[in-house]
Amino acid sequence: MIELVLPDGAKMSVESGIRGVDVASKISEGLAKKAVAVKVNDTLMDITTPITTGGTFSIITDRNPEGLEILRHTAAHVLAQAVESLYPNAKATIGPVIENGFYYDFAGIIIKEDELPKIEAKMAEIVAADYPISRQMMARDEAERFFAERGEPYKVEIIRDMPEDVKEVSIYTQGDYVELCRGPHLPRTGMLGKAFKLTKVSAAYWRGDATKESLQRVYGTAFFNEKELKNYFTMLEEAERRDHRKLGKEMDLYHFEEFAPGDVFWHPRGWTLFQTLIDYMRKRQKAFGYVEINTPQLMNRVLWETSGHWDWYQENMFTTTVEEKAFALKPMNCPGGVLVFKHGLTSYRDLPQ
Ligand SMILES: [Zn+2]
Repeated sequence: MIELVLPDGAKMSVESGIRGVDVASKISEGLAKKAVAVKVNDTLMDITTPITTGGTFSIITDRNPEGLEILRHTAAHVLAQAVESLYPNAKATIGPVIENGFYYDFAGIIIKEDELPKIEAKMAEIVAADYPISRQMMARDEAERFFAERGEPYKVEIIRDMPEDVKEVSIYTQGDYVELCRGPHLPRTGMLGKAFKLTKVSAAYWRGDATKESLQRVYGTAFFNEKELKNYFTMLEEAERRDHRKLGKEMDLYHFEEFAPGDVFWHPRGWTLFQTLIDYMRKRQKAFGYVEINTPQLMNRVLWETSGHWDWYQENMFTTTVEEKAFALKPMNCPGGVLVFKHGLTSYRDLPQ
C-alpha cells in the first residue's frame, strides 16, 4: 500500500500500482471523466500510468494550466499522425508546446498554407476515431532499433543523444502512430475535441541549426472548448487592429527605424500628443503635491546587482561597457530614485516625499 496526500490535506491509502484514473474515481466519477493527467510529487503522469510511490497527489483537469499544455501537446501528436498519413514521405522530428499553442517540425516534405484545412480534416478524423493513447517503456537499444526499422532517423538521433544513464525510454501509440515522448498526454485522441486550429507554416532547421536539414514547421493552437478558441482569434484580430506600429504610421504619429530598434522617431503630431500627455500628468502631479526628480539613464551594473534587476532581467537589459565597466540602461526608475532619497533623507519626519 502507498499513501497519497490530496490537495486538501486528506490522506488516502491505495494499493501500489493503482492508475491515476482509478484514484480519481475513488474521489468522484465526474472528476475521473475530466482527468487530463495526474501529478504525483510534482511529476506529471498519464492517468493510466501505475503509481508506485506515495506522496502528494492531484488531478489535472481543464482548469489547470498544465491541463491546457497537455491538451496542446496531444494536439501536436494528432497533427503529426495526420501529416504522416497524408504525406508518406514525412519524417517526424519534434513537436513542442509553445506560448499560445504548439508546432511540429517535419522533414522530407513541403506543406503550403492552403493545405492546412486538409490536415485539419484528417486531425478531426483521428479525434473522431478516439484512439486510446497508450504508453509503453522500451529498453533504450531496443527503441533505437525500433525507430530505425520504422524509418524514423530523427527519433533514432534523439535516442542516441540522450544522457548515458537513460536506460529505457517511453513510447506512445495512438492508432498506427508511434511517438518517442516523455508524456503525459490526454488518455484518448477523442478528448482533444473540436477546438483546435492550424495557424501557419514556416521553415525551420533540425535542432535550429542552419547547417542541418531544413524542416517544414506547422503551427497550431488548441483549447478545451470552441468558445475559448473563438475568443483567442478575436483577441488576435483586435490586437492587430490596435497594433501601435500600424496606427503610428497611419496617423502619422511616429515610426521606427533599424538604426534604433524599439525606439521611436516622433513626428510633429505624435510629439504634440506626447507633450500633451506629459502636461496633463504634470498638472495632476502638482495638484497632489508631488515634485519631480531625474536620474541617469545609464548606470553601473553594481547598482543593478544590488537592486536585484541584474539577477532577474539581465538577458532583457541593454548593456554597454565603458572603460572596462559594465553599464545598463535603466529598466526601472526605482534604484535611481532610491539613491536620491538616500542622499538627502535623514529622518522619517521628512516623509512623505
Ligand atoms: Zn508527447
